[in-house]
Amino acid sequence: MNSTLHAFQFGTFRIMVISDGVFPVSKDFFFADTPEHIIHHIPSDFLAPLNFLLIDTGDKNILVDAGFGKTHLPTAGKLLNHLETQGIYPEDIHTVIITHGHMDHIGGLSNKGKPTFPNAEYIMRREEYDLWKSNPQSKEYKKLIPLKDNMTLITSDMEIIPGIHLVHTPGHTVGHLSLSVSSGGNHLLVASDILNDPTTLHHLPSHISVEMSPKQGLETRRSFLQEALDKSALLFVCHYPFPGLGHIAKEDLRWKWIPIT
Ligand SMILES: [Zn+2]
Repeated sequence: MNSTLHAFQFGTFRIMVISDGVFPVSKDFFFADTPEHIIHHIPSDFLAPLNFLLIDTGDKNILVDAGFGKTHLPTAGKLLNHLETQGIYPEDIHTVIITHGHMDHIGGLSNKGKPTFPNAEYIMRREEYDLWKSNPQSKEYKKLIPLKDNMTLITSDMEIIPGIHLVHTPGHTVGHLSLSVSSGGNHLLVASDILNDPTTLHHLPSHISVEMSPKQGLETRRSFLQEALDKSALLFVCHYPFPGLGHIAKEDLRWKWIPIT
């Protein structure tokens, strides 16, 4: 499997996982509230994957988050280049779903005060936008300001086009969004950042240290995984090993990750 792009047909949709690269993280950052015996094999510093989704519905290109964008990190910010190798340019993106306001997801949304995707509608939860707006000097809010004329702020779960639902999954951040995608009898659940690494699936309190409400995050993880199991859904997780796609199983009351091959 190519480690930067992975495309597949999903009912009537064409879905592509695009790597933005990897970014350096510490074990403490990525695995808060995690017993050492589960993660003893993980080095104190490592490179975490950055996977994002493009859904081509046939008449719309829907991008889910935009990666780091232009950054000082030499290993990240590669999403646009990877899209261009497929003949997809920023002006071809019709909708951008913003799952939450961390820089690894929104850095690529604007550059020098201009939206990266000039023809796109940007959709995020209102409380997520307000969170970053409440700190107007934050680098996150500065990334979002240029999008404000094309921003749709939602306050309830909704179906943006037939088969693509946006679902509020708070915990990692207050307005974290997941996607529930259905087409041709197939189900895909997009976790974005409510899961950190397959290693911790049997210890769900584990979370990325910047998670805003680990208690709410834990509830969200439990119900999200149960839904994935109940629907036999394909799961997509941003920071799981590329391409971040797989299924969930439960064995002896323990969640298990079965990556696609
Ligand atoms: Zn992230």
